[in-house]
Amino acid sequence: MGIKVAKFGGSSVADGIQLTKTKHIIQSDPDRRYIVVSAPGKRFDGDNKITDLLYLCKTHMEHNLPYDQVFQVVTDRFMAVKLNLGVEVDLQEHFDKIKEQLKKGCSADYIASRGEYLNAVLVAAFLGYDFVDAEGLIQFDNKGRLMQEATDEALRTELSKHERAVIPGFYGTNAEDGKVRTFSRGGSDITGSLVARAVGADMYENWTDVSGFLMADPRIVRDPKPIHKISYKELRELSYMGASVLHEDAIYPARIADIPINIKNTNHPEDPGTIITAEYDATSTNVVTGIAGSKDFTVIAIYKNMMSSERGFVRRILAILEDMDINFEHLPSGIDTISVVVSNSSLDGRLDELLETFDRQLNPDHMETFEDIALIATVGHGMSSRSGVSATLFTALADANVNIRMIDQGSSEMNIIVGVKNSDFNKAIKAIYDAFA
Ligand code: ASP
Repeated sequence: MGIKVAKFGGSSVADGIQLTKTKHIIQSDPDRRYIVVSAPGKRFDGDNKITDLLYLCKTHMEHNLPYDQVFQVVTDRFMAVKLNLGVEVDLQEHFDKIKEQLKKGCSADYIASRGEYLNAVLVAAFLGYDFVDAEGLIQFDNKGRLMQEATDEALRTELSKHERAVIPGFYGTNAEDGKVRTFSRGGSDITGSLVARAVGADMYENWTDVSGFLMADPRIVRDPKPIHKISYKELRELSYMGASVLHEDAIYPARIADIPINIKNTNHPEDPGTIITAEYDATSTNVVTGIAGSKDFTVIAIYKNMMSSERGFVRRILAILEDMDINFEHLPSGIDTISVVVSNSSLDGRLDELLETFDRQLNPDHMETFEDIALIATVGHGMSSRSGVSATLFTALADANVNIRMIDQGSSEMNIIVGVKNSDFNKAIKAIYDAFA
C-alpha cells in the first residue's frame, strides 16, 4: 500500500456538504492515510473565514471591546457542522478551554490556530482517524523560523505510531517558550508538505476549489488552458510573480524529499489537476508553461560613462538598497547603464530619498525613473532549447502596441521577464498568451 497525504483547504471543509465530499474523496483511495485540514473557509461570497473571525476576537480584545459575539459566531459554525456530520465530540469542552485562554489575554497566533485545531478534532471523528495535534511536533525558533529538521524528526516519530491520522494545518510551537506559533496565512499547505516528507509519502495532494494551475490568470485571459504538469522550478518563477494557489513555502519540504504535489479540486475530483514534480515534462510540446505577473514596480535607470570599468559600482548600489532595506527584483545592465527594478511596496514612498542617495554616492551622469511598471514572467523549460521564442514574444507585444520598458532573461533560459506600463498589463498578458497557447 502506498501513502498519500491529502491537505484540504478552507473551502473544502467549509461546511457539512463540503466535508461529506471530502470524506468520499478520502475513502475512495485507501492510500489517503494522513489528512491535513485548514479551518473552515467561506461557504459563499461575503461569508467569513473562521480564521478571520478568530483574529477579529483578538483585535476586539486589544481594543477592550467585547469579543463574545464574534466568538459565538465561531462556536455556532462548529456546532452546526458537528450536527450535520452527526459526530460525537464534546466541542463545548474545547470551547471552554479556548475562552479561558482568551480571558487570560492569549496571543493572536494561539487564537487563530484554534480554527484548524477544532476542525481537525471534528474531521478525525467524522473519518474515524486518529487526531494528532501539530503542537510540539511542528517547531519554530524564537525568530519564528521553521526548524525543518527537528520538525521532520518529531513528525516522523509521532506519525509512525498512527496508521491513519488527521493533523491540523497552519500552526506548531515555538520550541523555546512552548507557545503556539502559526505560519503566515495559507500556511496549512506547508503543514501538508511537512507531513508528506515525514511519512515518506508517494504523493502530496493539495485539495482546493480550482482544478490546478492555469496558463494565465482567468480574470485576464478567457478560458486559459490548464497546466497538467509543471516543475518545481517553473512554479517558483511563476509563484514569485503572483500565482496564489499554493503557499510558496510549501514547495521546499516536498521538493527535498522528491515527492510530487498534485493540486486537485474537491468539487471536481475527476479533473486531473496539476502535478508539480522535480523533472519537467519532457513529453510536452508546449514552449511556454505559464505566464504570470504583477503590477506596481519602479525602474530606475542609472547612466554613467565608463561604468563598466568602475570598480565597486554595483556593490555601492546594493549597499544603498541594503541600508534602506529595499529588495530589488532585477538588475538588468548595459555597458554604461544599469537599471534597478524595485517593487513600490518595498520602496514604500522613499523614491526621492533613494534617488538622492544614488546621486550622492554614485555620482551618475544621468538617471531616469519609470514608475507604474508591471512585470510579466513568461516561463517554460520548453523555451530553453528553442530558438525564436523571444522573437515570438516581442513580436506579439509589438503587434499589440505594447512598449517594453525592461527585459530580463534568467541564464537558465526558462523565463523571460518584461517590464511594461501598468496600463498595458492585461493587454500584454493576453498578447503573450495568444502567441504561445
Ligand atoms: N486558516 C489559515 C488561513 O486562513 C491557514 C490556511 O487555511 O492555510 O490563512
